[in-house]
Amino acid sequence: MRYKRIIPLLMLLLLLWALHKKHHFRPKKLQRVYQCWSMNDQPAELQISDWYSPNTASNLTSNWSAPIVWHGSYNEEVLENYYAKHTITVGLTVFAVGRYIDYYLERFIATADKYFMVGQKVIIYVMIDDSSKMPWLPLSPHRSIKVFEIKREKRWQDVSMMRMKTISEHVIEHIQYEVDFLFCMDVDQIFLKKYGLETLGESVAQLHAYWYQKNATQFPYERSTLSEAYIPMGEGDFYYHAAVFGGTPVQVLNITRECFKGIMKDKENNMEAVWHDESHLNKYFFLHKPTKILSPEYCWTFRLPESSVIKIVKLYWAQKDYNHLRVKN
Ligand code: UDP
Ligand code: MN
Repeated sequence: MRYKRIIPLLMLLLLLWALHKKHHFRPKKLQRVYQCWSMNDQPAELQISDWYSPNTASNLTSNWSAPIVWHGSYNEEVLENYYAKHTITVGLTVFAVGRYIDYYLERFIATADKYFMVGQKVIIYVMIDDSSKMPWLPLSPHRSIKVFEIKREKRWQDVSMMRMKTISEHVIEHIQYEVDFLFCMDVDQIFLKKYGLETLGESVAQLHAYWYQKNATQFPYERSTLSEAYIPMGEGDFYYHAAVFGGTPVQVLNITRECFKGIMKDKENNMEAVWHDESHLNKYFFLHKPTKILSPEYCWTFRLPESSVIKIVKLYWAQKDYNHLRVKN
């Protein structure tokens, strides 16, 4: 008698359990289908061979396979199509202290607005010692400026070197959440032509216009073993210009942190590397090879004679007679 009552009850429980199980799995199945769809939607990752084709002797890649980007070595259309689907924001830090504000900042911003990452979202981070002197210019769509007041160092060498510390702090505090790629540039420069997507990479270094045709023994690396920036004679790949470097925020954080560590260690030992932050940047890229290298077209100087390998100048140094403009004690 008892069994007869229990059997329908058990069957009901079994039915409920089966229904529950079926129901329980449904969202998972949906999730899987959704993931498949979204994965198919993503265009494949961009390969170097999709956009980069070195075509002359000077366009060679480095011996660790990092592309050296010259005008004519990249396919702008492929890059633009790719980044139309993978939207990005590019940051650009620039420092202006003392008279460099009056002499360089406005033209740097105005020409960056016109030529730097045309059509992409851009945030320009201006680090300035007197924000009341900030030149407020009308900007193109998708561009914005963030201004931060910084302390004015007494020596110009320290203005230059302390940028490493300030950049690393800002990357940690906010820049890492705001951009996908970040460039750090000197303010005494002028954009002349499109400076575009071909320059983006994990870690980006700039060939110095004075040294790109020289060999390792001639590079003006720091040669004192007492400095953290020391590179032994005959070693090293290229001489890089500290007026332009970049990468993903995390890579820029590594670069600036390591350089600043070296600078501070040198200070403790009463040392200062021959080319200040640039010597430390060269040491960093000697130890950690950049993933992309920019030709001197991306940081040229018209003080050098015309050269047949320099096809299109994208950015150039402003007048260099600024010793009297630099901050003084
Ligand atoms: N800088 C500045 N005021 C100064 C000295 C330097 O704002 O008095 C900043 C500025 O961004 C400049 C950078 O530090 O572009 C590096 O200094 P500079 O351009 O004089 O060095 P160089 O190009 O000769 O290595
Ligand atoms: Mn400079």
